[in-house]
Amino acid sequence: MSDLLERLRGRGWRLTSQRRVVAEVLDGEHVHLTADEVHARAVDRLPEISRATVYNTLGELVGLGEVLEVATDGRAKRYDPNAHHAHQHLICSGCGAIRDVHPQGDPLAALPEAERFGFAVSGAEITYRGLCPECVNRP
Ligand SMILES: [Zn+2]
Ligand SMILES: [Zn+2]
Repeated sequence: MSDLLERLRGRGWRLTSQRRVVAEVLDGEHVHLTADEVHARAVDRLPEISRATVYNTLGELVGLGEVLEVATDGRAKRYDPNAHHAHQHLICSGCGAIRDVHPQGDPLAALPEAERFGFAVSGAEITYRGLCPECVNRP
């Protein structure tokens, strides 16, 4: 489990039942859900929760820095509770499964000075692609 709920409690974020449900849906390892997926799962737990509330809550969590927005393939943005441990993503080109991965070495250091064009480089997002074990074994 990620410690999203614990982190939010630690910050004194007011946990209404609606906010709690959104945080519970996002809590976990390798969680990268779209806003619509978060809404669908939240409705299972709290049928009256509206799409607008889910979207607003996601926006707040991103603003707090407790959830990251991840853009993959220009598809719908995904929400990632693993916001405090630098990681990259491994994506299955077959089914879209996403795993958090931790490549060795500093991705920033991998970009030589001559390739920086005078930029003060502050971050790097690396996406590894391939087929997950299930898609590899699919007949
Ligand atoms: Zn797959
Ligand atoms: Zn992630």
